[in-house]
Amino acid sequence: MQIHKGDQLFQEALKYFISGVGAAGRFFPTIGRPLFLERADGAYLFDIDGNQYIDYHSSSGATFLGYNNPEIKQAMQQALDMGYFCNYETEYHVKLAELLCASVPCAEKVRFANSGTEATLGAIRLARGVTGRKKIIKFEGHFHGMHEMAWFNCHTTLSEPNEYGEIPCIPDSAGIPEEIASMVIVLPSNEPDIFRSCMKRHQGEIAAVIMEPVMYNAGCVLPKQEFVQAVREETEHAGTVLIFDEVLSGFRMCLGGGQEYLGVTPDLATLAKALGGSGVPIAALVGKEWVMNGLNPVGKVVMSGTYTGHILEVLGSLKAVEIMRSPGFYDHLNQLADRLYSGLSDLLQRYRIKAVIQGVGARFAIYFGLEHTPIYDYRQVVRHFDFDMNQRFLRKAFEKYLYIHDYGNKLSPTHHGFTSAHTLEDINETLTRCED
Ligand code: PLP
Repeated sequence: MQIHKGDQLFQEALKYFISGVGAAGRFFPTIGRPLFLERADGAYLFDIDGNQYIDYHSSSGATFLGYNNPEIKQAMQQALDMGYFCNYETEYHVKLAELLCASVPCAEKVRFANSGTEATLGAIRLARGVTGRKKIIKFEGHFHGMHEMAWFNCHTTLSEPNEYGEIPCIPDSAGIPEEIASMVIVLPSNEPDIFRSCMKRHQGEIAAVIMEPVMYNAGCVLPKQEFVQAVREETEHAGTVLIFDEVLSGFRMCLGGGQEYLGVTPDLATLAKALGGSGVPIAALVGKEWVMNGLNPVGKVVMSGTYTGHILEVLGSLKAVEIMRSPGFYDHLNQLADRLYSGLSDLLQRYRIKAVIQGVGARFAIYFGLEHTPIYDYRQVVRHFDFDMNQRFLRKAFEKYLYIHDYGNKLSPTHHGFTSAHTLEDINETLTRCED
């Protein structure tokens, strides 16, 4: 493995960037610096030292259809030929919105955004504006982007719940004022009774409940059907807006994302990542008309932006959604993903490694230190995750040219595992390298 140019560039990058990276999440603790790319194609990354990796990071899940997708490239070329403007509407905006409404169960109306963070921020503001209430409920371990409104108890230590099961609200970043924490209630997920009693105690106060339908931010922790059902029933009864944050789960296992997978329809959903297909930076807030009508200029909740619905993104995303809507797309995706998961699981068992693999659609985690699936309990993951073994695995995988990204955070103990444009040969080759 050649790494000279990468090491040199890192020294140069350190002069201008904090930790040598333009975005913190790109630092790769496994090698003590980021991977510097020259190009990417399909499921492969090529670094500036000429090494080729099979990629299971998938740009944090944003290159769902693989890199350099020729159809998406062509669609974006059309946008370049049109003059690559932003802050105007086109027929393609309407077409994309139409396809989103045909694909995602809760989508009756659409508003675009530039990132998942922006979409969840807009969703929470909209819920507050429509209900006239301040408080929101979120769940421990669920991540909703890097804004002040819901960035709590995701990358922090576990703290003791109070007598009602509510978990002390701890910000995931310095700089988030306590006043904001006072508007957020953190609960454990998959605990319907705790949720019900909380809704009762805070009757008339809760503007929104925001949740990841599948807890993909902790790898792949499964939702319990009776829990999600209880959340839907209670919020509906209380006039509370239910927001599914589908930034990761949208399109990931089926066209309608987590809500179709669970058969539970929220009032609002946020989409990003896979929505852009091949890393195109687009997000959307979609939802039921009664809530979405709160958005300006009809309603009083402002959500807009100069680059929102940029023509490059819209044309790229339109092509991505068309590809995802094509017949057999999800059968193929899920079959390949299952081949990887069952192959890895066989290896873990054959070599008696204390670890399990859990995956839904194109997202998975290998939980070193855990012994049984299904995993529903986030706290169990945090408590039992074997961080050192995980680091050794990632290091060895990297030496075998498998790129599985990790933040190296003991408190957020999961690496990113995403399948994308992998072929059966890629999956088989990955299993061979893992066995080595
Ligand atoms: N919500 C969820 C569930 C996410 O996984 C993420 C990012 O990983 C976000 C929101 C924030 O999205 P972005 O990074 O596009 O701002």
